Amino acid sequence: MTGSLSVVGIGPGNQNLITPEVSDAIFSATDLVGYSTYLKRIPARPNLTAHQTDNRVELERAVQALELAYSGRKVVLVSSGDPGVFAMASALLEALETGSNKWKKVDIQILPGITAMLAASSQVGAPLGHDFCAINLSDNLKPWKRIETRLRLALKADFVTCIYNPRSASRPSQFSIVLNILRKTCESTRLIIFAKAVSTPKQNIKILNIHEAESEMADMSTIVIIGSSKTKKIKGTKFVYTPRFSG
Ligand code: SAH
Repeated sequence: MTGSLSVVGIGPGNQNLITPEVSDAIFSATDLVGYSTYLKRIPARPNLTAHQTDNRVELERAVQALELAYSGRKVVLVSSGDPGVFAMASALLEALETGSNKWKKVDIQILPGITAMLAASSQVGAPLGHDFCAINLSDNLKPWKRIETRLRLALKADFVTCIYNPRSASRPSQFSIVLNILRKTCESTRLIIFAKAVSTPKQNIKILNIHEAESEMADMSTIVIIGSSKTKKIKGTKFVYTPRFSG
């Protein structure tokens, strides 16, 4: 008998932001597969084997999960946030499409989670109230030129733009390029939000005009939200929003 494979998102950090559906899947799992940082957020218990992996070997992790599920285990493949947003669901389906035909017999489900941009936006108000997009700034899997083109076009289209993976030790300078583009193409009052470690004890949120923004304000636990030309702060409150109507 083949087992099952649930690809789940455990949200941005706070336990209360894990959906009941995901909690149930974790509760009935025999095996967890995922990046060690995310697996640490799930309490250990007897009869639950945790298979910790490095963050960079997504395809290997997907194959491991498929093999375990095929052998009859109840496997949960863990991502942070939502598994379909710059995370394991896509890697899993890539492995399913290109790998062994036998894996197609595995009962696979993808269970959503609260992605970082939604957790961040609710902390500041409603910056995603009108049209928006999300860009992953990591050039591990795509050329930098494409990222830059997408950013420029998103700004031109006046989307609110959420930036995942803005800056890491191995890519310290790309976010500076983003800030330079913003300073050249947007009005100086344009809002930018740095939301770090949202929903965790280390949460730190800054709402700034672009000329106040510095590259060092972003790291790998930060999501950056660049407002559209309509995104504004309500005076006398902590709230930022993008109106639902747009001229
Ligand atoms: N699947 C995840 C995203 C994985 S990419 C999701 O849906 O949220 C990892 C990036 O997500 C990080 O570099 C950061 O930009 C963002 N991120 C994840 N958790 C976050 C949090 N708690 N606070 C702010 N940003 C977060």
